[in-house]
Amino acid sequence: NSIESIAAIGAASSTLHGFADLRALQQSAGLKLIKAGRGVWVHDEAGRPLLEAASGMWCASLGFGDPELVEAAIEQFKTLPYYHTLGGKSVVPSEVLSERLLAKSPIGKGKVYFACTGSEGNDFLVKFVRFANNAAGLPKKKKFISRTNGYHGATLAASSLTGIAGNHKGFDLPLPGFLHTADPHYYRNALPGESEDDFCQRMVRELRTLVESEGPETIAGFLAEPVGGAGGVVIPPAGYYTRVQELLQGFGIPFFSDEVITGVGRLGDWFGSDTMGIKPRAIVMGKGLTSAYFPLSAVILEQELVDRITEGSDRNGHYFAHGATYAGHPVGCAIALAVLDIIERRNILDHVKRMAEVFKRRLLALQEHPLVGHARCVGLVGAVELRPLPGAAGDPGGELVKKVHAIAENRYGLIFRKLANNVCAFSPPLVITEEEINELFDRFIAALDSAMVS
Ligand code: PMP
Repeated sequence: NSIESIAAIGAASSTLHGFADLRALQQSAGLKLIKAGRGVWVHDEAGRPLLEAASGMWCASLGFGDPELVEAAIEQFKTLPYYHTLGGKSVVPSEVLSERLLAKSPIGKGKVYFACTGSEGNDFLVKFVRFANNAAGLPKKKKFISRTNGYHGATLAASSLTGIAGNHKGFDLPLPGFLHTADPHYYRNALPGESEDDFCQRMVRELRTLVESEGPETIAGFLAEPVGGAGGVVIPPAGYYTRVQELLQGFGIPFFSDEVITGVGRLGDWFGSDTMGIKPRAIVMGKGLTSAYFPLSAVILEQELVDRITEGSDRNGHYFAHGATYAGHPVGCAIALAVLDIIERRNILDHVKRMAEVFKRRLLALQEHPLVGHARCVGLVGAVELRPLPGAAGDPGGELVKKVHAIAENRYGLIFRKLANNVCAFSPPLVITEEEINELFDRFIAALDSAMVS
């Protein structure tokens, strides 16, 4: 029971990290304390270096310990560590950051709302769009469609947008009005003999059926990650987004992009929407925005949505009662500005494009390995799906990925992210070098080989 669980982890850690970690802690004897980080490496308490190849999904896209980012934070702490946003006030870094993000984004003209986490950003988007639709006299337009296996966060609305079944169970989620359409994961979900094109058409037919059965006038928006992250690094086949956007446009349903992972260079462009051919009406960003050095997220909204509120608020007399103490925190925004400067000055996007070639070559070569079923990547995010050796029993519990993960970390000093369906996900800091990419995959192959014999 949960009290016992919490007591059980109490011995190892006094921090309640969350469900997945809680289970891991119950199973493992000890807790690994990460003490320091530099570049793509972190050090544990004993000073042992570990290559951090899970960063893109969690942290430090520009690497650990970047002195310029630290300096930007210190400077802002000294100048103005905090100010509220009430009564028409704002702070310089958040105003400059809004302008720079809008100028880079495919949204063009609009406004940016700053929050602290990706979850809060998605939650805000839902609230904002509902309010805007009410204000525009469209009170029925409330429902959101997202995708099975998509991940959008941990608050009630963001968990409801999330389409990973395990994140709903036990929480009475999703909330009403949150619908899910098929996961465009060709490798896993294609029918036998189905071409990529037929697969895309089927995905879009399913979406059309959902929209029509609910009534298009009730759908406020479609939210998707350009490339799925926590649900297994899902890269939809070419043509999927064109068809989906055509369908949505026909129904007047806006496409919203959750770029918490893909934003700020992960795929080689500022925005993953650009890489994947998406023209979104709003974008949610997080993580890489500050290289995860400070909790900051941003929701970029197109002007047309913003205008609905301005007009509607007046007409209905409703006040847009949404705010947060730390919205637009000056230190977070100052760090984000430094992130943009560094990416521009050090040509990080070009670097990502070049490194993505090396990453792809090494990752796809893994398909030769007997334990690897499928490998896929775009930019600096990729995954392999492991498969049990021929003749071995199936592996519904993902024992193989747990084993490879533990060997990689404990024996070979490599941290990657293990996901459902025996997926090993890699998303190293964007500053990774060619030598370090080779190191990453050499270590991973060593872990796969060891898993076969031990
Ligand atoms: N959206 C996506 C695509 C994510 O990957 C995540 C975090 N893994 C979130 C939203 C939620 O962000 P946060 O953990 O900062 O709330």
